[in-house]
Order: sequence, then structure tokens, then C-alpha cells
Amino acid sequence: MVTAFQVSGTAFCVVCNEELEGPHRSTCQMCGGPFHQPWSPDSTAPRCGKAASHDETLAVVFLCRDCYDNRRPPM
Ligand SMILES: [Zn+2]
Ligand SMILES: [Zn+2]
Repeated sequence: MVTAFQVSGTAFCVVCNEELEGPHRSTCQMCGGPFHQPWSPDSTAPRCGKAASHDETLAVVFLCRDCYDNRRPPM
């Protein structure tokens, strides 16, 4: 099940600042911002986030690219 992030009006991607159109978007689990996430291979939406697996819960979470890149793996 995909929980749709319903927003009325215009929303802008927190990564590339482009307008979010259609269903190809997700919400960052870290900063809460919306970003482009193409759900189908034929989508023209840019991929502005990544799916990351949470080490403790083993759940897959979606992070915007900014948060993903800032994530520092424990040394
Ligand atoms: Zn974007
Ligand atoms: Zn984020």
C-alpha cells in the first residue's frame, strides 16, 4: 500500500525546486519535504530521492537526496 501525500495547490520538490505534478512524488521521512519519486519506469519525473532501509526496523523509508547524501554512515 502506498500512502498518497495529498496536497491541494502547488507543491515544490525540496531537492530540485521544480513543481511536483501528478502522483510521482514522495515525502522524505527525515525532513518531511516532498520530492520527485517516479513510481513507474515510463515516468518522466526526475528521481530526487532514494529508498533506504532502516537498520533497526528493517522498514524501507524514502529520503530526499539531500537527506540521503548528508547521512553519514557510522565508522
Ligand atoms: Zn525534484
Ligand atoms: Zn529530506
